[in-house]
Amino acid sequence: MTDLLLRNGRPWTPGLPLRSADIAVAGGRIAAVGPGLDLEAAEVIDLDGAIVLPGLVDAHCHLDKTMFGGPWTPNTGGRTLEGRIANGEGRRAELGVPSADYAANLLRAMAAAGTSFVRSHIDIDPEVGLGGVAAVREAAARLSGAVDVELVAFPQGGLLTRPGVPALLEAALADGVGTVGGLDPAGFDRDPTGQLDLLFDLAERHGASIDVHLHDRGLLGAWEYELIIERTKALGMAGRVAISHAYAMGGLEPDHRRRIAEALAEAGVAMITCAVGGAPSSPCRSWPTRARCSPSATTASATCGPRTATATCSAASTRCPSATGSCPTRRSSSRSRPGRTAARPSSGSTGTASRSDATRTCSP
Ligand SMILES: [Zn+2]
Repeated sequence: MTDLLLRNGRPWTPGLPLRSADIAVAGGRIAAVGPGLDLEAAEVIDLDGAIVLPGLVDAHCHLDKTMFGGPWTPNTGGRTLEGRIANGEGRRAELGVPSADYAANLLRAMAAAGTSFVRSHIDIDPEVGLGGVAAVREAAARLSGAVDVELVAFPQGGLLTRPGVPALLEAALADGVGTVGGLDPAGFDRDPTGQLDLLFDLAERHGASIDVHLHDRGLLGAWEYELIIERTKALGMAGRVAISHAYAMGGLEPDHRRRIAEALAEAGVAMITCAVGGAPSSPCRSWPTRARCSPSATTASATCGPRTATATCSAASTRCPSATGSCPTRRSSSRSRPGRTAARPSSGSTGTASRSDATRTCSP
């Protein structure tokens, strides 16, 4: 007797045609995948041909800032980065953030739409200290493992320009946060080598990853990519470093952009970018193939249509569920690092085909 049997789904595996198959779930894990499984189950759901995808990955979120489910609050921070940062910090007490309640509201909405992994940057500064880390951890625990939340200790208000922040980042990493963040080493801290040397030193000593918000554009931004690439290669940190936003990429000359993309791929530096108003988008389709497939642990994603069921592997990968029903090996290595904060089922299972996730997202 298995716990759950999903009949007549079409599991998606990259490069293979969609074929009808049943999926058996036992103990929170995919136990078997195949056509016409001859199994008894406590619960049977007919997917009626729905496509079964891996859990979606949200590689860049700020759960400590959300007011999801709360009252409408207009932006009063103006249009500059500095103004928005100062506004957000100055109104924390008034708005009641960071809030475990708001963060849990957003996580529930994400889970209902099929997201099973979130990387969340958490503000770290002398005013809030590690309060955001505690709030988001509490929110993640309330989801009982439906979403894995990876935390980034993020010096949003400056790292070198703000006394006490390096020590707070150190404390966050010592407390189990697995990734240290940065912000515009040149444009915000005005000391690019100083900020990056500090970040890489922290990451190396704590076995952490790095994820740098980089809004600086043009040749300044491109030069900062090179500084990050140099340090990643020197310290052997391939696969553990990411550049978020990366607004400079869209504005570079094509040859320059290609060289940067190749260098990022060779060094194993991931890019987590987005469309942004006022800056040219990065034409990712023109990048070298190996650059588009750079080995990031947090860049995979998949889409979820209206007739789609999600069998959650909750890993940062697009390769689950496979024909064998096993989750990718990358998952076990990533879980061995600190900073994954989601509460898992008491069985301690890793790759999961969550019944609740599947049923929440397979409605026609
Ligand atoms: Zn961000």
